[in-house]
Amino acid sequence: SKRVAILTSGGDAPGMNACIRAAIIACQKANFTLLGYKHGYNGLLQQEFIPLSLDSTHNLIQQGGTILHSARCKEFKNREGLIKAADNLRQAEIDTLIVIGGDGSFRGAAKLSELWDGQILGIPGTIDNDIAGTDATIGYFTAIDTAMSSIDKVRDTADAFERIFLVEVMGRNAGFLALNGALSAAADYVVVPEFFESAETEIKKIVNQIKAQRALKGPVSFIVVVAENVWPNGLTGLTEALQYHNINDVRPVTLGHVQRGGSPVAQDRLLATTLGEFAISLVGSDVTNIMVGEVNQRPITVPLPKTWEETKPLNQARVDAMRTLMNERYSCD
Ligand code: ADP
Repeated sequence: SKRVAILTSGGDAPGMNACIRAAIIACQKANFTLLGYKHGYNGLLQQEFIPLSLDSTHNLIQQGGTILHSARCKEFKNREGLIKAADNLRQAEIDTLIVIGGDGSFRGAAKLSELWDGQILGIPGTIDNDIAGTDATIGYFTAIDTAMSSIDKVRDTADAFERIFLVEVMGRNAGFLALNGALSAAADYVVVPEFFESAETEIKKIVNQIKAQRALKGPVSFIVVVAENVWPNGLTGLTEALQYHNINDVRPVTLGHVQRGGSPVAQDRLLATTLGEFAISLVGSDVTNIMVGEVNQRPITVPLPKTWEETKPLNQARVDAMRTLMNERYSCD
């Protein structure tokens, strides 16, 4: 019988709990012991773990956040920290460590594997979807929904005043959330890192679109969705750039951490449940230092380094749709 430990690390995401639940149930079936380390890698360093059994699973699938809590952990980046973690895993007689997190957490897990010879399995959990080797990450679908409904609400007030709104969406260095939030809420323009050349070229396009739309229809609302970490000085920088072109009365909205919260939507629950169960099915096999993911609706395994060395591209069909629909009003008159 195996001893399995699980933790959630880095940016939290809706569906992490659904994944923990699936792992608990699968471990119970397989007669494995499952422990949950708390507070990401900090729990590993403090040997802070709790037993996870079926009495922890009640209603868990629908809860946002993570019952194990998440955290960043500076100490884990140093060799001494990693050695301590490896020692603690040996002391707790862990056979398999499961890390639910993003690419930072996976980098840490890969480093740990150099000092600990147990099995390491990663599960992608981040709203940013910026992990190569899997079509989606746990939390991504819920975050798109949150961005969409927030932009819908911004549209109501923007329409009422025929105003320009700038909406900043999360995504770290990727445009998945911004693009899909913008497309699903019919935003008028989207700025994503994948296609950002310079503030000058981008501002010209935005100004042209606003002017063209106003020439055609008179005063109308206009929503620009902006991925975080793209525009120099963020929404303040973009507001100033618009003012320079005599476009005033602009309202910035930063969606912020609401995007990390909420009860997971069905797609995140399904992904989390599938990957949690699949990870436990690999316990005791000779695969290690891998992430489990899903490609074309099938579970797959990917060597951990691949998940951050490769850059996952945006879905081209969605990009094309956004480009066409952004220009719809001006091209079909
Ligand atoms: P995410 O997993 O969401 O990308 P972070 O990038 O904050 O989140 O990483 C989470 C934790 O993983 C960090 O606080 C740190 O403990 C660990 N980590 C990140 N990068 C490394 C690294 N290069 N080496 C060792 N540990 C790392």
